[in-house]
Amino acid sequence: MSTTEHALNQGTRAALAAVASYKQGRTLEPGADVVKLSSNELPFAPLPSVRAAIEAGLDRLNRYPLTAAPELTTALAARFQVDPERIVYGAGSVEIVSQFIRATCAEGDEVIYAWRSFEAYPMLVRTAGAAPVEVALTADHRHDLPAMLEAITERTRLIIVCNPNNPTGTTVAQEDLEAFLAAVPASIPVLLDEAYHQFDDGLAPIVGAGLLERFPQLSIAHTFSKAYGLAGLRVGYAIAPAALAADLRKVSVPFGVTDLAQRAAVTSLGAQAELDERVASVLAERHRVVSTLETAGWSLPETRANFLWLPLGADTEDAVAVLERHGILVRPFPGEGLRVTIAEVEGNDRLLAGAAELVELGLTGGLVQR
Ligand SMILES: *Cc1c(COP(=O)(O)O)cnc(C)c1O
Repeated sequence: MSTTEHALNQGTRAALAAVASYKQGRTLEPGADVVKLSSNELPFAPLPSVRAAIEAGLDRLNRYPLTAAPELTTALAARFQVDPERIVYGAGSVEIVSQFIRATCAEGDEVIYAWRSFEAYPMLVRTAGAAPVEVALTADHRHDLPAMLEAITERTRLIIVCNPNNPTGTTVAQEDLEAFLAAVPASIPVLLDEAYHQFDDGLAPIVGAGLLERFPQLSIAHTFSKAYGLAGLRVGYAIAPAALAADLRKVSVPFGVTDLAQRAAVTSLGAQAELDERVASVLAERHRVVSTLETAGWSLPETRANFLWLPLGADTEDAVAVLERHGILVRPFPGEGLRVTIAEVEGNDRLLAGAAELVELGLTGGLVQR
């Protein structure tokens, strides 16, 4: 069907014909003996304190939430030492990304981001009527910041840097990001998507919040879905320049962040030590899995997130089937690779057993040198 026919047939915008539907990480069938490692979720149930905060909010479910999220805003403004005016909320940080695109782009305007990166970027850009400008990752699966600079045109309205990058887990170096930010024209907002920053235990992890004062076109997006384990509640936020923040609110989904989500987020910020322990346990498991795979000969992109990227190329689909037989669901990108979330010991052990079978079967996409 041509795009014109699509528009005529459906009564919808022609641009939507070019948009792939979002594929959710495969979910669990009840009772099946599989571990879901396809959506980068934390494997733990909510903390008791968070559960209690949610229960305390149930009596008010007949009421709309407070759009300004005053308690959460106070907590975040104190934590990041920023003016509360600069904090904007979304139903998950995926809505934050959407707000940035819709606040900055008119029809045909361009958004630059690395590729491969977060699946939602091309969908959100295209559905806004804007044009994706995808800049290939380097050979070691990192953002090619110089090439992203080169890609800037007079139609560029937004640049997204995903750090650590989903699905590769790779990070940009502080000095490279600073050089990049210094070179981007001040009129072009740069959004640093830090959905996984708590898992970055490199020697010099980038803290976007620390760069906000020096680079006025910089914004950061954070989420409670990953390290805070609240993916089901949908709450994310941006810290943006105040004027941009005001415009982001205009395009936000009204009442998009529920009162229960706000309560859970505030309580989580107050339980940071407990949550840090959970992140530390995931990191300990990631180190175990990575070193076991490396000992077995795998050479993988260096991950600083709660997932691994296996660029298996043409072996991807066969490898996914093998891993499913080992009882884990992963996220396939056919012909390119698969992303697998680091969870608890059992799921990770299944991954290691599955990976050993991939070596036996020769389904390693050339990643294993022996
Ligand atoms: C998971 C993720 C998000 C945010 O997810 P929400 O649940 O919408 O907060 C944002 N960016 C990237 C790169 C992600 O992987």
